[in-house]
Amino acid sequence: MEHVKCLIIGSGPAGYTAAIYASRANLKPVLYTGVEVGGQLMQTTEVENYPGYPKGVQGPAMMDDFKAQAERMGTDIRWGYVTSVDFSVYPHQVTIDESTTLLADAVIISTGASAKWLGLESEARLNGYGVSACAVCDGFFYKNLEVAVVGGGDTACEEALYLANLCPKVHLLVRSNKMRASQVMQARVEANPNIQIHWHTQTLEILGDTQVTAMRVLNTQTNETSDIPIQGFFVAIGHKPNTDIFKGQIDLNPEGYIVTKAGSTYTNVAGVFACGDAQDSIYRQAVTAAGTGCMAALDAERWLSHEEFVKSQA
Ligand code: NDP
Repeated sequence: MEHVKCLIIGSGPAGYTAAIYASRANLKPVLYTGVEVGGQLMQTTEVENYPGYPKGVQGPAMMDDFKAQAERMGTDIRWGYVTSVDFSVYPHQVTIDESTTLLADAVIISTGASAKWLGLESEARLNGYGVSACAVCDGFFYKNLEVAVVGGGDTACEEALYLANLCPKVHLLVRSNKMRASQVMQARVEANPNIQIHWHTQTLEILGDTQVTAMRVLNTQTNETSDIPIQGFFVAIGHKPNTDIFKGQIDLNPEGYIVTKAGSTYTNVAGVFACGDAQDSIYRQAVTAAGTGCMAALDAERWLSHEEFVKSQA
């Protein structure tokens, strides 16, 4: 069985930053990318708030830079998906693609988060046939068509603005009388003539047999139901941490985020560290993910040195 000193799970800003620091600390990290190589930033267009890019940068280009830097430092980057872990044994056991099991002295979890869905039967059935959770990925297919975005956070606003550049009409469905998005994003949405905001609006069903043709919505204030013709339906209601494989292995909070000790990336299991969106339900920014990735590598390095010292004294 392959035995590695430091195993990093996930390839977003947190994972790659952990890889850069762990490589430079000579931990010889092996990083498994997961299916969504590069993480959520691969689905973003312009990133304007990551320091060091004064002119902004495209999300995928930024992640290529992160990956290239981790590779240059010597990280062994492998394509593969972690399907299970056993943290009750030491060295920890991590299984890739249900087939290969590795032993790891330290594990850094940076599995990120994924888009949430409404949970409607029609949403699942029409996923890929007009239903999407990524305007940047799929918006192009709806050029000059009418679409809807559900959600009231920064993601929903960003998606609506992106689509408003392609589509003559974007319906933004907000379930209450207020948005969670930042003031600047709300102002941009409100000023865009192609976006119509529907307050107090809940989606009952997405209509269409093989392709989305309309949505059935309920105004919860007037109790009126209406069918609005659309061709694309974009869900932008937040994210869920990708931590299902760690259930029962490490402490998770009720929303599934990994619990880390205050001011560190230590989990409740010795030798297991967590960083990025998998443990951060508050900031969820690329720069904070990268920051905690750095912390995880430093924590792992110090922890491993301490373990080696203890062993050498035994
Ligand atoms: P948020 O959690 O901020 O917002 C989720 C939105 O979806 C809320 O308006 C919520 O409504 C709504 N919602 C949740 N569930 C449902 C449902 N079942 N039906 C209808 N609406 C629903 O998630 P975001 O993904 O927007 O943002 C996450 C974080 O990322 C935030 O911190 C945000 O600031 C940040 N971000 C920053 C960006 C930037 O700076 N450019 C871009 C994108 C995100 P309610 O308020 O009623 O709960």
